[in-house]
Amino acid sequence: MQAHLTLIDNDRMKVHAAISYGISSNVYVVEDKATNEVTLIDTGYGPPYSNLIESLRKLKIDINRIKQVLITHRHRDHTNGLKQILREIKPTIYIHKLDAGVLAKRLEAAKKLIVRINEEYEIKVGDISIKALHTPGHTAGSICYLIDNIIFSGDLVFANGSFGRTDLPTGNISDLIDSLKRISKLEVNTLLPGHGEVVLKNANAHIKLALKMAKSYFKVKKEILSRFFPTKPFNSIKSFL
Ligand SMILES: [Zn+2]
Repeated sequence: MQAHLTLIDNDRMKVHAAISYGISSNVYVVEDKATNEVTLIDTGYGPPYSNLIESLRKLKIDINRIKQVLITHRHRDHTNGLKQILREIKPTIYIHKLDAGVLAKRLEAAKKLIVRINEEYEIKVGDISIKALHTPGHTAGSICYLIDNIIFSGDLVFANGSFGRTDLPTGNISDLIDSLKRISKLEVNTLLPGHGEVVLKNANAHIKLALKMAKSYFKVKKEILSRFFPTKPFNSIKSFL
């Protein structure tokens, strides 16, 4: 099930969302008013869990206007929807270089469309500038995208102080805490996460709460592990976290 909403409508752009209530990620659609170009942020899992073609129809977006797709990280619930749209269009696909290999393998025929990005990459679309911040922790190549004071946070942080899991391949809780620290210093007002509800004001409070929760989760994990492995220095048991 998905809900379709227009979240932002200002002089330069509109931001729409397809909010998912199941396994699929949320999908965000950014329309640049100067050029009419459309940018997607993540694509959802695709059928049967979500349907991007149907979402675009509901949001009255012509698929041919999509020029780029920005991926927050490599997980299938955020990227599988690409397969559905790649049958119709050939957008540029941005993903961090550390997460790009897995995606390129899955999208063999479309791998030439993938642009592997680094820290502090900037994507210009008409009047809009989209800044990519490398925020590892959920995966090694996780990215948050920033437009003005809006943050698209992928699975780093969610509403109400939730944060992404770190027990999947390349996940790392101390990196996740560092990434949360970093984005907690930004002046952001709107938090558009990879799953669940969106936050349209005072996003910074939600991010700070997530940082606090992640720190205490890390502390408890360290204490439990030091009981099981009392002689090992913390660094050597880090891979268990
Ligand atoms: Zn994920």
